[in-house]
Amino acid sequence: MDWTYLDNNATTSIDPQAVEAMMPYLTERYGNPSSVHDFGGQVRAAVEGARASVAAALGCDPSEIVFTSGGTESDNMAVRGLLAARDRGTQIVISAVEHSAVRDLADWLEKSGREVIRVPVDAAGRLNLAALEAAVAPDETALVSIMHANNETGVIFPAARIAELCRERGVPFHCDAVQSFGKLPLNVRELGADLVSISAHKFHGPKGVGALYVRRGTRFRPWLLGHQERRRRGGTENVPGIVGMGEAARLAIESIAVETGRVRELRDRLEAGLLAADPSARVNGGGEGCPRLPNTTNISFPGCQSEALLIGLSERGVAASSGAACSSGSLEASHVLRAMAVPAAAAQGALRLSLSRFTTDADIARALETIPAVVARLRALKV
Ligand SMILES: *Cc1c(COP(=O)(O)O)cnc(C)c1O
Repeated sequence: MDWTYLDNNATTSIDPQAVEAMMPYLTERYGNPSSVHDFGGQVRAAVEGARASVAAALGCDPSEIVFTSGGTESDNMAVRGLLAARDRGTQIVISAVEHSAVRDLADWLEKSGREVIRVPVDAAGRLNLAALEAAVAPDETALVSIMHANNETGVIFPAARIAELCRERGVPFHCDAVQSFGKLPLNVRELGADLVSISAHKFHGPKGVGALYVRRGTRFRPWLLGHQERRRRGGTENVPGIVGMGEAARLAIESIAVETGRVRELRDRLEAGLLAADPSARVNGGGEGCPRLPNTTNISFPGCQSEALLIGLSERGVAASSGAACSSGSLEASHVLRAMAVPAAAAQGALRLSLSRFTTDADIARALETIPAVVARLRALKV
């Protein structure tokens, strides 16, 4: 089947140029970057080239980049690494809408006896900054971990303001920028966070590789012990993955100026078309004074069940999501939409559509034909 792929917040297609960059490291260049001989040394140089590329994309020094196995590991490593090094405060402050990588870890830490504060959002998905301010205290808070852009709604949080608030109180701040990297111009110095997570497969790189930016001077302990990555993350490097990520980062930055506007225009056309076709449909997240990623829309079709909608679309070659990929198969509405107090009927009929720089006009035309037809059929069947 010829798919219209509108699930780019779950994962993206790998850019053919990234595949090409990786190929030698999957075949003849199999040396270990830690070896003394030059066969390994050449591979080490490729890893360092990728590190320079990722660092340039983030606006930091290459020595501040630690390669990991992806966003989940970067998030876990950030929170655990900060906790292990912290000598003040025991509470953890997160938002109510974090990705499961942070959310599940926080739940687990809470069960182990640690206090977790979940900062609420409003109906548009905006972070309650007053609640954050009240929650963060120098001698009580061990760390703050709040995402940059939400994977379900695309809502962007004011990371620089959060960073400032944390800095004033001497509390370390980790920011999950997995969704914003490659979609928004991102500079970690301007962002101001101490740690920043990214993941290659969310920006047309390979799966199973990511990075954690660790600002120089941050008190941080390694989680996976070993000599690699300046002792900050042990384990022989995923060399092909790292090389692919370096190339994908370069390509993302190169195309960002052109693609942001083009993708936003496609997303807006899709959203407007769906709202026009169904007067009861509503967009979840964003609006006045609430910026969103240019590629994401989360739309509810009250009276439909997300699961039935996704299956109907899949049968017609349109790949979409109901929000968090991990929560599919369960009937419970997404924790993000619940945190935004989206009414149950709307939350149960939510559809997340996420575009990429490979999305075409034809994809949008097909989605605008298919989605209203599936919605109408489900309404008629009352499923
Ligand atoms: C996808 C995602 C992750 C997890 O990244 P993986 O590389 O798939 O482990 C973490 N945070 C956010 C916001 C994500 O969208």
